Amino acid sequence: MLALNSNKEESCLSRNQLVLYRKSSPHKPSSYLITKLRSYEKLHKRCGPHTKSYNRSIKQLVSGQIDNSTDCRYVVWVAFCGLGNRILSITSAFLYALLTNRVLLINQEQDMGGLFCEPFPDTSWILPEDFLFKSEINSFEQNYNYSYGYMLKSNIINYSTELLPSYMFLYLSHDYDHHDKLFFCDKDQALLSKVPWLIMKSNVYFLPSLFLISSFEQELSKLFPDKETVFHHLGRYLFQPSNLVWRLITQYYQDYLAKAEKRIGIQIRVFDAETSPFEYVMDQILACTQTEKLLPEVDTEKTIAAQSENQTSKAVLITSLFPGYFEKLKNIFSDELVTSAWSTFGYVAQGLGGMRPWILYKINQTKPDPLCGRGMSMEPCYYAPPVYGCKAKTTVHTATLVPHSTTAANTIILAMGSVFLSWNCFGLRERGNVYSRKTFSRVGAGLIVFSVVLVFIYQNSITRFISSYIDMGEESCISRNESVLYRKSSSPYKPSSYLLSKLSTYEKLHEKCGPNTDSYKRSIKQLKSGRIDDNSTDCRYVVWVAEFGLGNRMLSITSVFLYALLTNRVLLINQEHDMSNLFCEPFPNTSWILPHDFPFKSKFKKFKQKNHYSYSTELLPSYLFLYLAHEYDHDDKLFFCDQDQALLTKVPWLIIKSSMYFLPSLFLISSFEQELSKLFPDKETVFHHLGRYLFLPSDRVWRLITHYYDDCLAKAEKIIGIQVRIFEDKPTPFEYVMDQILSCTQKEKLLPEVDTEKPIGSSSPSKNQTDKAVLITSLSPDYYKKMTKMYGQHPTKTGEVVGVYQPSHAGKQRSNINSHNIQAWVEIYLLSLCDELVTSARSTFGYVAQGLRGMRPLILYKTDDTKPDPPCGRGISMEPCYHAHPIYNCKAKTTVDTATLVPYVRQCEDISWGIKLFNTS
Ligand code: GDP
Repeated sequence: MLALNSNKEESCLSRNQLVLYRKSSPHKPSSYLITKLRSYEKLHKRCGPHTKSYNRSIKQLVSGQIDNSTDCRYVVWVAFCGLGNRILSITSAFLYALLTNRVLLINQEQDMGGLFCEPFPDTSWILPEDFLFKSEINSFEQNYNYSYGYMLKSNIINYSTELLPSYMFLYLSHDYDHHDKLFFCDKDQALLSKVPWLIMKSNVYFLPSLFLISSFEQELSKLFPDKETVFHHLGRYLFQPSNLVWRLITQYYQDYLAKAEKRIGIQIRVFDAETSPFEYVMDQILACTQTEKLLPEVDTEKTIAAQSENQTSKAVLITSLFPGYFEKLKNIFSDELVTSAWSTFGYVAQGLGGMRPWILYKINQTKPDPLCGRGMSMEPCYYAPPVYGCKAKTTVHTATLVPHSTTAANTIILAMGSVFLSWNCFGLRERGNVYSRKTFSRVGAGLIVFSVVLVFIYQNSITRFISSYIDMGEESCISRNESVLYRKSSSPYKPSSYLLSKLSTYEKLHEKCGPNTDSYKRSIKQLKSGRIDDNSTDCRYVVWVAEFGLGNRMLSITSVFLYALLTNRVLLINQEHDMSNLFCEPFPNTSWILPHDFPFKSKFKKFKQKNHYSYSTELLPSYLFLYLAHEYDHDDKLFFCDQDQALLTKVPWLIIKSSMYFLPSLFLISSFEQELSKLFPDKETVFHHLGRYLFLPSDRVWRLITHYYDDCLAKAEKIIGIQVRIFEDKPTPFEYVMDQILSCTQKEKLLPEVDTEKPIGSSSPSKNQTDKAVLITSLSPDYYKKMTKMYGQHPTKTGEVVGVYQPSHAGKQRSNINSHNIQAWVEIYLLSLCDELVTSARSTFGYVAQGLRGMRPLILYKTDDTKPDPPCGRGISMEPCYHAHPIYNCKAKTTVDTATLVPYVRQCEDISWGIKLFNTS
């Protein structure tokens, strides 16, 4: 097995568990490949992000000049096109890195976050956010100044140039030109080897052409004696599903595919429904699967009940963008089918699966003959290879140069044997040796039905996931419309009309001043100048910077948003990778995400209370940092004084680092009082309204939520959410908390007791039984285990049937990992769909759930060494608690009991030293 890594940060479940799901590969990697990978891992660890060598290399990059400061060299891969293309081109870039002793770094944009585990131990392959070109790297194009092809074409460099720059850009995409393709010549490789930083934009599996570069030949033959398994080995090594993806895969597999004796995957990719009509493709699939004996014919004379008993069960997994194929096959095979969605990438699946697929030949108006055929190599196809003989300087038929590459038309593929027939692997036709983007899409779309029959299960779950990525471009925000279907009743709490009109004014302001508008650009200029210029723009901003877990973050965003509303500022979120893909954009026609090229972005992490500008100076700067997190000090807290607010109004950019729900203290600032009383006549629903307005699950999160809800919770008549949060600093013993939960839920009649005298099934459930689902969320699996055992072994005294569910148990809080935040958000939202809520005291995770739900929860009081009596109590307000509020009277300049100043701000039920908003009417 190649994947021996252990990565400390992310546990990467799939690394260990994959063997349970996959039939082991008959294709063994060469021992030379394994050694090579081990030494690559060492190199990556030594030169990877934020090592000393990396920092020196970055200096070199910035200087633009090559020096001998470090022996680390890099390939930075930049994404282009869909996921299948990306996986294949990353693999090509990785092999290139292996062959040239470079370190591969991936420019991972939001849309690629949370897909894979880190492949190399104790380091990262993600290009750091503060990389020099990070904000512009995606816009590098073929004719970029430092593009290798462009520099050759424009005679900026030639083969004898001595003074080479410290970085070059390589354009290796389907529409590259002759000069770009010179990359594949030995002479050019010799030149490129001197350049420490190569930035590569690629969307093709260019790996086969590396086998045609003679300087790599010897090494490659030692690495891959078997040419057909290059992607199989490298792909399996590089792409381990992240925990989140892994959960989707295994959940789906267990639900639908595990029971079958044989699983048949059918990947249907129709590029043009006009030239490949549905009936043709459908006939082709049926004819192919039946002739090849993958699927049985049906006996149309009989009904389903008459099937023989010793039947072999087969599961058919269909992946297609069109549901029609599934519907049709489902009608034929009844229950045996599994549905799933959309686009898929057969090459990756066949390579990871390690098998030669059945290929449904493309239909172009007429049906092909034969309809399908077995692939001759499991390798992916390189569909736009160079056709240039570097030595002879003429066009050559690349596929005839070595025995292990073969072709149809202009495509090449690596294969085992010497000569064999091949198939049109991607339907592209050469057009005067030019592959313009237009040609690519037109010809591609016009010609192809590229479909693969796979006996392999991996693909579908990936595509479920990919589908959410495909949506990303124009995020539709399904949850905006669908959430009403899942919330049992609409909120009984209506926002004031003043709040509604304030929000709509805010939206207009945000649209006017939001990222990349003229006003924004002018404001950025002002920010950079450091000086306030009253004539430049009337837009003012508050930038939110994250700290702590998701609950804390959502509460502090809400606080900053209310502050923005009150001060006519625009809220921008500094969204690091760990927060990406969680929420829809809340404001129409604009974005609340702080752009990547924001001037101080790289400094945010290091920013602590002591190194911000003091705002007592007369000559105010154009920006100020405000530190409103747990360990803030007296000076920071002056933010909550009227006179400080008057001063802050003048500063166009405020950058707030916050981890708290400081919103209740805004209600104690007298200059905001009047406005707040108009906005929120009902003080208990501030977070309920603002939270529901701001936080809509992204499409990807929404699918996870609804999938789980539909599968596990939808059937129950009543859903009881129990949120168990054990804080690591002073953990309460398991037995104490378990007893507390049981006595609370039984005392409050949320859950029935069990009859321990009787085993399950000995008494028939009463006729009018109520099915209850318990949704447990916790980092630990123990509470779930205990409850499942309890309700699984004995009947309940009331005859009710209780199902217990827990979506995940991550073990540890890991708020800097995107997939953990996604999972946390899924669970917070699921809790907010429950009929009853039991939450843990002091947890912001629970606060968010109760606020979104719009319910005062039963709070499990914090236990230390004694069991609390009563074990839980009903909250008196559904508002979140502000844990570390200021206790300073700004006017009197003395300490004051903040919880006594106004009737609607009082001490929290779960923390004596916290305050929150209460309804007074
Ligand atoms: P708090 O610390 O309880 O106030 O809540 P936060 O949300 O601020 O931080 C806790 C973090 O730990 C969450 O954001 C999650 O990343 C993780 N976590 C804690 N409890 C759970 C849980 O029940 N389910 C999941 N998925 N994650 C949890």
